[in-house]
Amino acid sequence: MNKKNQIRQKKFLKTNYGEIESPFFMPDATRGFVKFLSLKDLSNINLEAVVVNTYHLFLRPGQSFFKKENIHKWGNWEIPVLSDSGGYQVFSLIRRNKKMGKITDKGAYFRSPLDGKWLWLTPEKSIAMQFDLGVDMMVVLDDPPQNNLKKDKIKQAVERTLQWARRSVKEYKRQIRNRRISFKKRPLLFAVIQGGPYLDLREYCLNGLKKIAFEEKDDIFKDWDGYGFGGRHVDSQGNFMEDILKATAKMIPNNKWKFALGIGSPEDIVKSVSMGWDMFDCVIPTREGRHGKLLIRKYPKIIVRNKLKYEVVNISNQRFKNNTKIIDKHCQCELCQYYNFSFLHHLFKYQDPLGMRLVALHNLKFYLDLMNELRDIQVV
Ligand SMILES: [Zn+2]
Repeated sequence: MNKKNQIRQKKFLKTNYGEIESPFFMPDATRGFVKFLSLKDLSNINLEAVVVNTYHLFLRPGQSFFKKENIHKWGNWEIPVLSDSGGYQVFSLIRRNKKMGKITDKGAYFRSPLDGKWLWLTPEKSIAMQFDLGVDMMVVLDDPPQNNLKKDKIKQAVERTLQWARRSVKEYKRQIRNRRISFKKRPLLFAVIQGGPYLDLREYCLNGLKKIAFEEKDDIFKDWDGYGFGGRHVDSQGNFMEDILKATAKMIPNNKWKFALGIGSPEDIVKSVSMGWDMFDCVIPTREGRHGKLLIRKYPKIIVRNKLKYEVVNISNQRFKNNTKIIDKHCQCELCQYYNFSFLHHLFKYQDPLGMRLVALHNLKFYLDLMNELRDIQVV
């Protein structure tokens, strides 16, 4: 068969809260909620999964809170929830201001930006916290180096990422044993591949992670469920690291889930899906939406003849003042069903939260529609 006529093989991720077809997109419900959007809003656009952040929930309402509550019950989330380890946020905090903490082999020791208290986030604590949250998919704590660092510094971050991955598996097994969770009901565990812009380091990291899985294998932990692409996906000049992402996806075994953490724009997602990445999370649709940037398709489909066809408009622009047309006639979201450009422009002139909510919802629906199209598209 000609490769161009080959249809993507259907692939479903099984979680405790149902199955999700690959590829899929998860908005960031960083602090346990998607900013401005209610559960009803999200269910209206058939959202399939969300990402919460361990670091933010660790700060508030705090780990002890989640000893009694879990994120599904507390936030009434009836869809799969993934938590990221919190590492990226802690590292960013410390990199911005050295007085905020330090990173050691033990973990990150940092000052809470909320109340100034000193706290440890270690691989073990991150995993324990993710169990307390009661999520369905968890990610191990890693050391994300900046892509502009010298290679030996990035290598050090890879070594630390590997040490922390091993400690995370040990803690994962301890938690499963203590909580008497069956193999079927276990949360899925994702490792993170670091290595910055160096493919040999990415390969070294992946091989190290595979070795850890092999050595730690027992009746509780059989293998990583998937691998994430760690660190930024753009190089120090801001270019999308296409070759590295492509080669890394190729190195990961096909029976493992491939999580392109933090990606990205519709263009980057389309490219990454064609490389084999399955899972995506990003703040772009909702954050840009709150700032009045709308993604609008030009045709019934977003992808036409293998090309993305859409435009980005800024609703605050004066040219929309008298435009009473439907915003996106191919979109089924609340904004496009009930409102027009002119009225939305008016809402943004007053900076009314209704406008921000509607555009965030519309953009997220655009992303979900894009993923749906990508599920059916032929392999390019
Ligand atoms: Zn819409």
